[in-house]
Amino acid sequence: MSAALWKKIQSFLGITADGVPGDQTANAVAATLGLISQVPTFDSRSEANIATLVLDAQAKAREWLVRCRTEGINVKVICGLRTYEEQAELYAQGRTKPGSKVTNAMPGYSWHNFGVAWDFVVFDANGQPQWDSPLMDRCGEIGEELGLEWGGRWKSPKDKPHLHLKTGVTLAEARQIRKSGRQIA
Ligand SMILES: [Zn+2]
Repeated sequence: MSAALWKKIQSFLGITADGVPGDQTANAVAATLGLISQVPTFDSRSEANIATLVLDAQAKAREWLVRCRTEGINVKVICGLRTYEEQAELYAQGRTKPGSKVTNAMPGYSWHNFGVAWDFVVFDANGQPQWDSPLMDRCGEIGEELGLEWGGRWKSPKDKPHLHLKTGVTLAEARQIRKSGRQIA
């Protein structure tokens, strides 16, 4: 097939028209034919963090991000899964390692350790994170509207940038499920 014809097909699909059919072209064709569902693509940082989550959480995070962006909020997912090892590193900070304490959660005591939690921050037009923006609250509320738990409702510590999937199990149960080699969601 000629490159010219591929270019026509690619521009019809709204993707880069380089005349060389690859994965992107195949996916766009399949999505247009209704063979696969079209996954919205966000900024690379959000995408990379969403990709670390379990599938149910990925779907919710995408739904949530679409809702926030639809309201014109420039929000990004800045953290997703944290392994037990990474959590241990964080927990050590300000305890057995230099620095100030950043978490009270030991490995297995954060929903991030199970791939169902993500953190977000709103950015201004200059690309600066706005941790205290009222839009942070709005993003949390949108999460709640989608049935997620928002850390902005917690008392100690309040954790506005945090959302997680309600799993129906406790963290203690999640640790047990993990020990048995299964996923919690
Ligand atoms: Zn968090």
